[in-house]
Amino acid sequence: MNGNDIIALGLGLQAPWEIAGQLLDTEKNPHELLLTLQARRGALYPCPVCGASCQAHDFKEMTWRHLNFFQHHCYVTASVPRVRCPEHGVKRIQVPWARKGSRFTLLFEQAAMLLVREMPVLTTARILEMKDKRLWRIVFHYVRASVSRLDLSALRAFAVDETKSRKGHRYVTVFLDLDRKEKPLVFAVCGKGRETLAAFRRHLASHGGYAGRIVEVVSDMSGAFISGIKAHFANSTHTVDWFHVVQLFTRAVDEVRRAESKRVTLPKASRWAILKKAEGRFTSRQPDALSELVSMDLHTANAWRIKELLRWVRRAETMRAARWRLTWFANMAWSLVAGKDLLKPVGKALRTIEKHRDAILARWDSGHNNARTEALNGIFQAAKRRARGYRNDQTFINIIYLLAAPIQNTIKST
Ligand SMILES: [Zn+2]
Repeated sequence: MNGNDIIALGLGLQAPWEIAGQLLDTEKNPHELLLTLQARRGALYPCPVCGASCQAHDFKEMTWRHLNFFQHHCYVTASVPRVRCPEHGVKRIQVPWARKGSRFTLLFEQAAMLLVREMPVLTTARILEMKDKRLWRIVFHYVRASVSRLDLSALRAFAVDETKSRKGHRYVTVFLDLDRKEKPLVFAVCGKGRETLAAFRRHLASHGGYAGRIVEVVSDMSGAFISGIKAHFANSTHTVDWFHVVQLFTRAVDEVRRAESKRVTLPKASRWAILKKAEGRFTSRQPDALSELVSMDLHTANAWRIKELLRWVRRAETMRAARWRLTWFANMAWSLVAGKDLLKPVGKALRTIEKHRDAILARWDSGHNNARTEALNGIFQAAKRRARGYRNDQTFINIIYLLAAPIQNTIKST
């Protein structure tokens, strides 16, 4: 095997193509290695439509960026024919080393996709010494092609949640397959609320899935999601993710604390002690702040106690026990809240969970792990870092897919 053969292998060259020449251009900085590819004179080429061997009609010289050779940029040049197919007329052939319309070789693109999975797009573009806009175009292509091949025929249960895609009121809504442990994200779309469920229903249909087979949908308590679930996934049970119940009360506690801090002086570290999960580690000052809150008989302390009692509800082992605990919790909480103006936010949270009681309890009957939405936050944060500097909805969506959708293998074979 000589040097040409090795290069030919890397390019995926096959007859009639072969390497006709190499030139190291030292005038350029960095130096450029120029490879010229050529086909035998009189060779036949496959028609891009039907594959029939056809004669060349005319040629056009085209150039592609290839993987760097050590520190040298490398370019591949070839005279690419148009064939005259008896059936399809004159067509430009498809070269084996690059995909249609790309100015990069397949090997270059694969390397770029490998790097983009591990680091921000801007960093990858710098390493490969290419324009970041071109790199985004490559990312878009591979992600779109892989997502289009997702098979969702087995999908039976999904979770839906939204995140802000950037400052202002821009949202991206994502859908997770609840039966998939790794890379569970199967759809991401701009916008939020009811219409995103219609979009997912269409996405499902175009990937072998069927809305009528969905048995469970997990979401927060937003009316827009719920009405979308009812309208588009009528056969499913709606389950509220426990994470959203806790979040509801965490926000209520925070509201109480802010209102109360305008009237009395709260212990300094109280904000953190209150918002922190009791299972998490306390800093040394937090327990002090807490006991101070309790001893001062503050509304914030009562709101916090109510929120903490949710843990006890959560630990119920059966639906029956959970139902009983939730009732007990609500009664106890109302007795603390009743008539206290400052605790109104907690009362509001209580009314919300009463309204969604069945869907909240549904988690105890669910065959699915309902802790997914919490893991989503990690995905969103990672995607935001990866797409740094390009926070528009489409770039964000592409990176979310790249990180969390089950498309790793299809990207390799695209
Ligand atoms: Zn043809």
